Amino acid sequence: MFTLAWIVAVLVVATALAYVNAAGIAWTAAIAVALGVAWAAQLLPPWLTLGLGVLFVVLAIPLNVPALRRKLISDGVLAAFRKILPPMSQTEREAIEAGTVWWDGDLFSGKPDWKKFLALPKPTLTAEEQRFLDVETTELCELITDWETTQVHRDLPPHVWQYIKDKGFLGMSIPREYGGLGFSGFAHSQVMTKLSTRSGTVAVSVMVPNSLGPGELLAHYGTDEQKRHYLPRLAKGLEIPCFALTNPTAGSDAASIPDFGIVCWGEHEGKKVLGLRVTWDKRYITLGPVATLLGLAFRVFDPDRLVGDKEDIGITCALIPTSHPGVEIGRRHMPLNAVFQNGPNWGKDVFIPMDWVIGGQPMLGRGWRMLMECLAAGRGISLPSSGTGMAKLAVRATGGYARVRTQFKTPIGKFEGIEEALTRMGGNLYMMDSARMMTAAAVDLGEKPAVISGIAKLHITERARQVVNDAMDIVGGKGICMGPSNFLGAAYMQVPVAITVEGANILTRSLIVFGQGAIRCHPYVLKEMEATRERDRAKASVDFDAALFGHVRFALANMARAFVMGLTGSHFVGVPGGVAAETRRYYQQLTRFSAALAFLSDVSMGTLGGALKRKEKLSARLGDVLSLLYLCSATLKRYEDEGAQKADAPLMHWAIWDAMFKAQSALEGVLSNFPNRLIGAVMRRIVFPFGRPYVIPSDKLGHDVARRMLEPSATRDRLVAGSFVSKAADDPVALIERALVATLASEPIEARIKAAAKAGRFDGRLAPGSGVDALVARAQEQGVITADEARTVLAARDLTARVIRVDDFPQDLGTSAMRPLDYGKAGVAANLPNVQDQEVAA
Ligand SMILES: Cc1cc2nc3c(=O)[nH]c(=O)nc-3n(C[C@H](O)[C@H](O)[C@H](O)COP(=O)(O)OP(=O)(O)OC[C@H]3O[C@@H](n4cnc5c(N)ncnc54)[C@H](O)[C@@H]3O)c2cc1C
Repeated sequence: MFTLAWIVAVLVVATALAYVNAAGIAWTAAIAVALGVAWAAQLLPPWLTLGLGVLFVVLAIPLNVPALRRKLISDGVLAAFRKILPPMSQTEREAIEAGTVWWDGDLFSGKPDWKKFLALPKPTLTAEEQRFLDVETTELCELITDWETTQVHRDLPPHVWQYIKDKGFLGMSIPREYGGLGFSGFAHSQVMTKLSTRSGTVAVSVMVPNSLGPGELLAHYGTDEQKRHYLPRLAKGLEIPCFALTNPTAGSDAASIPDFGIVCWGEHEGKKVLGLRVTWDKRYITLGPVATLLGLAFRVFDPDRLVGDKEDIGITCALIPTSHPGVEIGRRHMPLNAVFQNGPNWGKDVFIPMDWVIGGQPMLGRGWRMLMECLAAGRGISLPSSGTGMAKLAVRATGGYARVRTQFKTPIGKFEGIEEALTRMGGNLYMMDSARMMTAAAVDLGEKPAVISGIAKLHITERARQVVNDAMDIVGGKGICMGPSNFLGAAYMQVPVAITVEGANILTRSLIVFGQGAIRCHPYVLKEMEATRERDRAKASVDFDAALFGHVRFALANMARAFVMGLTGSHFVGVPGGVAAETRRYYQQLTRFSAALAFLSDVSMGTLGGALKRKEKLSARLGDVLSLLYLCSATLKRYEDEGAQKADAPLMHWAIWDAMFKAQSALEGVLSNFPNRLIGAVMRRIVFPFGRPYVIPSDKLGHDVARRMLEPSATRDRLVAGSFVSKAADDPVALIERALVATLASEPIEARIKAAAKAGRFDGRLAPGSGVDALVARAQEQGVITADEARTVLAARDLTARVIRVDDFPQDLGTSAMRPLDYGKAGVAANLPNVQDQEVAA
């Protein structure tokens, strides 16, 4: 009996020590006391107590004496690590080391510091940024329609290009001292979001110069002279930039580009100068066909050792005027009918002077690191903003449409099937917008959040796809038939662009989020890896020992925390004071899942080692948990920042509940597919001791979310805040907004007409062929409704008729009036870009 109590007490104390990540000396003291009690009270057979005592002394001495511990334990593990750690290429290392660790580090720690998180400032705009958003951005949206752009001009119309250049849209992120607007990341994001509620083409055209490209690279790495020359010209649109990395053979694996430059002497402007002879073949380059300045990435080789002692210098970025002899550029791809400028470019043995390298000669070979650093910040702004903008457009227009479009005498938005899709749209958008804002805010805090920007890009663009798909299902044929009154078809077609660029989503999910996250966000893994590469053996031994034993305690702590929080349902986890009562449990549950993630990650890395990199399905699921924790945190922060509006609570609840269910499924996916079934089963008992706590969000909650999207309200306004609605009378989204208001005003009047007809106050039957107008007129004649009310009903009907209208065209779809594609003299073959050049290069 006493023995049993002792065993229970030992287990409880051990769990408690692990839970609080107790120091080694505390463990030693606790074990000594436990053994002392067992000896004194004769709780165990003497031989067992003696044996345990000897074992304790044998282990405790080396574990508590660092020099001994290193000699006996960690140095051996370090040697084994050195052998088994997969070799890391320089580009892999640069990608992993790029950027900073921010809130992702907390989420990976198993113990996120919510107080610190909630104290982060709410992102805001300066007065000037707000004015730019309200005036110039609105004006730009008003200047353009997707239909005109894609079908008439197949480009932005010239006056729109001019407006973009004149107002500084291309230099939003260029510092003011160089003539740019010097906007914050949040302002940039707000502008991109608004433009994306209007036209994908204009959004992409503005996005690229403000994202990863010549401007950003120059601002961070350019020489003073390069900055002084180019930045003011880029800011004013006197130069149109593009950035070319992708090669036909190197897309996702961009570090393997075969494009090369040889260091050599050559002639430039009549002088003999040191430079590079560059050969390249690029495709998919946005703005390429109209660019005046080509940012180019290629690998530099120095066979004659003209700049140092290495032959393979590495990836380098240079700026080449597109007018430079040998630069072949101007042909276009057609990216899903989006008609933003995009195309290939190539060149063979083109000599460029050394000072065209961004940052000059010292930056030879530093291109990959430059790209990764800039990507770490830029990826978190552009595509998340365009995805959110698209979703705002879809939610605003589709919610309104679902309310005014009736079938079976009922607004389609009131059918449960449609309601389900609407719910997903609303909940997803609430979460997407939260993550967009929080990520932009991180950039403004000086972070270059490499992992978080990948999460934001991946998950916001995926959710944008889901939102747009749901919207397409809801609007039916109206979304399918293209024309000026289709508000959704263009977004539907263009969604895959965001999925594919800046790290295709499957790759980002399978390889980047967890792969990079586990190394960067984990408090010890990178330190261990660095120690294995350390050449000073004494330093390596000390560093590795500290990291290894810190890691062991960290892993034990997360195991204990995951288990205890699982047993207690995380009810006892501390929550920062002042948070909205309805969100308290989420902080506790997110902390629990954070500990579970940290625990599973350590076991996965510990048992699978380098093989985890190839186990992409496991890695993707672990990455999903990290991502969903980030999305949930962002959602909670937004809810608090917006004053915990009770009316918005269903959106917040649905988004988090849905995400937590998905996080739970991802954890389950790891557990049930873990290569070692026994370890998987043990981990399941630790993480989910009483089974899985989450079920899908309830239908009642879903109903509350959908209802908010069907009627104008402050909640709906906040959900679609920052989206553009045209003043043009025939604009499809503006028409929906007006029809929605008119329908809500008309419905009670129509109900009175129906009731009066039913009560026999007038003949409510419609003669064949007579319109509803006749019924309204009759009701007015009979005094059932006033003239004003009759006008209200007729106006609503007229607006609804215009909303549900789709475009039709002549039988040849107007092609006879259109200029056919110019296939050139050689016909279609001439449109196959630079095939011969590829052969030559091969
Ligand atoms: C419209 C558009 C604009 C673009 N603009 C530019 C630009 O301005 N500048 C520029 O340099 N590039 C640009 N790109 C190129 C873009 O970055 C690439 O398309 C992207 O990197 C993917 O390369 P890929 O298309 O060759 O696909 P691939 O690399 O062939 O990938 C195909 C699929 O395989 C998946 N995949 C690849 N490797 C893995 C892996 N290890 N694990 C799991 N899945 C994997 C990918 O996720 C993808 O789903 C643009 C592309 C498009 C379509």
